[in-house]
Amino acid sequence: MFIYDDKGVVLRTHPNLLHDPYVQEEIEKGIEGYKAWFKVDGKFFVESKKPHKITYYPSFVKRIGGEFYTTTAIFPLPGASKDHVVLGGATFDPIYLKKSFFPEMIEEVLAQKLAEYQGGNPLAMMVYSGDGESSMDLKPIAYSNGWGEGKPEVSRKLEMVFSPLSLGIKYQGTSVKQLGEQWVHRSFIILCILSLLIIGGLILTKRIVGKEMAVARLKSDFVSNVSHELRTPLALIRLYAETLELGRITTQDKKDQYYRIIRKESERLTALINNILDFSRIEAGRKEYEFRETDIAELVRNTLDSYRYQVEQQGFELKESIESNLPEVYVDREAIARALVNLVNNALKYSNQEKFLGVKLYKDNSLVKLEVEDHGIGIARRDQAKIFEKFYRAGDPLVHNTKGSGLGLSLVQHISRAHGGHIEVESTPGRGSKFILSLPLGSRHLEQAHGAA
Ligand code: ADP
Repeated sequence: MFIYDDKGVVLRTHPNLLHDPYVQEEIEKGIEGYKAWFKVDGKFFVESKKPHKITYYPSFVKRIGGEFYTTTAIFPLPGASKDHVVLGGATFDPIYLKKSFFPEMIEEVLAQKLAEYQGGNPLAMMVYSGDGESSMDLKPIAYSNGWGEGKPEVSRKLEMVFSPLSLGIKYQGTSVKQLGEQWVHRSFIILCILSLLIIGGLILTKRIVGKEMAVARLKSDFVSNVSHELRTPLALIRLYAETLELGRITTQDKKDQYYRIIRKESERLTALINNILDFSRIEAGRKEYEFRETDIAELVRNTLDSYRYQVEQQGFELKESIESNLPEVYVDREAIARALVNLVNNALKYSNQEKFLGVKLYKDNSLVKLEVEDHGIGIARRDQAKIFEKFYRAGDPLVHNTKGSGLGLSLVQHISRAHGGHIEVESTPGRGSKFILSLPLGSRHLEQAHGAA
């Protein structure tokens, strides 16, 4: 602090500060400096219009450790006469300003703000010099916890006492710009997810609608195929029965031939109706299997026997290869016979020039495999997975001209799965097809397969 009048300057400072050589130098220069300054400008302070006639002079002073901000308050001493220049002055200790005063002030204000607003990112504050236009020329004097890096979001000049310092405020850890960017980023991601969901939804809808349309088309084909298939044998049976009834047929041979046709057609009807009944039971979830220990070789042989005549009648070469001494298999006899009949019927239906039917039964590790092979029209690769779907019939012209319901293979697949096995096909268009029905040995798998069926 100092007092000035035209006789001189008295200046005292805190004894603790005197160990700093810069302070001593400042005192010496200060005394001379004030004398010279107030001699010329002293009147200005006496006539000051400022509140309490106090004028603040900021300056940056040297101390051990660098340059520090301080401010000096200059005022006319109260009670002194107007034409006599008597001034008093006080300079703040710059180290105290930096280390204690500003930090405490900031913490106090922040604590108060924190109590007022709860929630959201906490604030951070800084007192700095410089214009703050860029973070380069910004010289921090004191700042609160969590200031981190960067420029203040909002700043105010500390006018009067602490000019030209400013107080800056921002959110801790992040800036408004970063928050904005984060928000845009988040919105963009949400938009992307929503767009993907919409696109996914559209694709899904298109697929579902496409599938539904395909099923509807297949169903209507099915109805016309089945009615056609029912009508033909019935018409034949009726025709031949009526002819026999009229008694016009005299030769026994002719009669036998007519009886055979009637039997064959009714067998075809039965097979078709069985397929349809099985299919409707499966669809309703009511299909039940009766598993029994079975000599599968005998089952296959018996089933083929009742077909042998028809097969040979149609000009097919039948090649049987049934392994003897196969272990007993736990199966539903009727279902396995029906699967075989369906496969054999297909082999007969979908062959033209080369009429060959091969049936093979053999053990392969823990499986029993039943193969039905033909040298017929074959199945295009893209159709090979689809033929096991219900109602599906390949687009081949021969298939188109052949009666069928599109149910046979879907039944075969259901039967093989119910037995814990599977059905696969190997086929080359124009060369023929081979269907392989694999059944596991033993009965442990059945509980699982049942659950799945
Ligand atoms: P369906 O024979 O009544 O049409 P399936 O379910 O038995 O019905 O067969 C489905 C389709 O698979 C058939 O329409 C046919 O296109 C094809 N297919 C089945 N077996 C054979 C085979 N042995 N050779 C060629 N194509 C076949």
